[in-house]
Amino acid sequence: MAETCIFCRIVEGQLPGDRVYEDEELLIIRDIAPVAPQHLLIIPRVHLASLNEVNEQHHVLLGRMTVAAVREAQRQGLVASGYRLVMNCGRDAGQGVDHLHLHVIGGRQLGRIG
Ligand code: AMP
Repeated sequence: MAETCIFCRIVEGQLPGDRVYEDEELLIIRDIAPVAPQHLLIIPRVHLASLNEVNEQHHVLLGRMTVAAVREAQRQGLVASGYRLVMNCGRDAGQGVDHLHLHVIGGRQLGRIG
């Protein structure tokens, strides 16, 4: 755990979070500033500052994060209408919290990217 990391503190229960799911590896919370009717964050319990710290050891973790995101999208009724998974990495991507996380965003028409 990183003492100054907001998401580590939510994982540890030291800060509140609107939890929708948790298991031994992951926590899913609602984003505090949603950009769409559904905006969830898939947060691994382990502190990795960003995608730049990911390596071959993290294959399983990243797979579980993706599967958890899809399952949560199904639970939230987003499958028919669609949704977006986003991981921001670093300054140019606008990463605001330096703890790896996967956004699940849906519930409205999203603008095109790329
Ligand atoms: P990113 O910009 O990809 O690092 O995303 C960080 C996200 O975390 C933003 O969408 C924030 O609104 C969200 N966020 C920051 N603090 C909290 C918090 N205490 N609880 C829930 N979401 C948060």
